[in-house]
Amino acid sequence: MRDVIIIGSGPAGYTAAIYAARAELAPLVIASSVEAGGELMKTTEVENFPGFPEGVMGPDLMVKMQEQAEKFGAEVVLDDVVAVELDGPVKRVVLGSGDTHEARSVIVATGSAYRHLGLTDEERLSGHGVSWCATCDGFFFRQKNIAVVGGGDSAMEEATFLTRFADKVTVIHRKDTLRASKIMQERAFANEKIEFAWNKEVVAIGGTDAVTGVTLRDTVDGSESELALDGLFIAIGNDPRVHLFHELELTSQGTIKVDGRSSKTSLPGVFAAGDVIDPTYRQAVTAAASGTVAALDAEHFLASLEDELHASVDAVLEPAN
Ligand SMILES: Cc1cc2nc3c(=O)[nH]c(=O)nc-3n(C[C@H](O)[C@H](O)[C@H](O)COP(=O)(O)OP(=O)(O)OC[C@H]3O[C@@H](n4cnc5c(N)ncnc54)[C@H](O)[C@@H]3O)c2cc1C
Repeated sequence: MRDVIIIGSGPAGYTAAIYAARAELAPLVIASSVEAGGELMKTTEVENFPGFPEGVMGPDLMVKMQEQAEKFGAEVVLDDVVAVELDGPVKRVVLGSGDTHEARSVIVATGSAYRHLGLTDEERLSGHGVSWCATCDGFFFRQKNIAVVGGGDSAMEEATFLTRFADKVTVIHRKDTLRASKIMQERAFANEKIEFAWNKEVVAIGGTDAVTGVTLRDTVDGSESELALDGLFIAIGNDPRVHLFHELELTSQGTIKVDGRSSKTSLPGVFAAGDVIDPTYRQAVTAAASGTVAALDAEHFLASLEDELHASVDAVLEPAN
């Protein structure tokens, strides 16, 4: 039986693996069969991860994190977890291959998926003008003409934030009213760089090497129009990857509930880290920090199991007075 199994191989999972491996816990990382490395594999330049003043390509950063974890003894398996049993002292993790692994503790670092529009060119142009993260990519759009898709709080927040960089931000929304809170709406309406394309949905994204524009369809009369753009930010929601973890308590936002600043979930020996517990910040560096917390919490949990074991052995061996 393992000391610790880590599910997920983004910044949270690999950082947890680095710490757990350096604590000689020989972690097993289940990295996913097709999405190993997490969300940063889908982007190009990352300019806000500390330690890289010249920037680093997202996939290169993730390969380095994996190498660092493996260097200290983490084992990385390119497979998906398809079922878990987390209740009880022995945790079971079943993989797509059919293999089952057991451990005393599990760290869940499965991240969170940004909702996509489902358009043909969306993935191809990801990191080349299509983005899901204004904090990450806004800086690349200085003096550009961009659009944000969505009508909720996060769309208004992203649009308002992006006006720091862009000359013009068009909010594209399917309806003629916003879902966002009143205060967020007012802030966006008052911003002279923000325009609204009401009752419009994006039906195609244009551009060979980078985004050049979108085709919009009017949701009322079905007519189509072209909008020239340098960038498209998609802010239509986010789904924490929690579908396997029905044994764990969730928050009202759908993230795994943890105890305060720790990574402790509602089950002993099960810890969670990264975007799967974070409805707010969702950055590589916050996920990595959260992975550290989870590895340290798992380490303390395993040490407490050892202490309990020694105490019970001592009690048995202690001669009766
Ligand atoms: C296009 C894009 C650009 C971004 N740019 C930046 C940036 O410039 N700077 C920045 O700080 N942040 C950026 N982010 C955000 C950043 O990528 C995330 O905040 C970060 O990756 C979250 O790390 P994580 O480890 O929690 O989750 P993730 O990176 O999402 O990793 C989770 C991993 O778990 C795996 N997994 C899920 N379920 C299973 C399962 N059942 N079995 C096995 N594995 C599983 C997934 O496949 C994935 O590999 C960007 C995000 C996107 C989408």
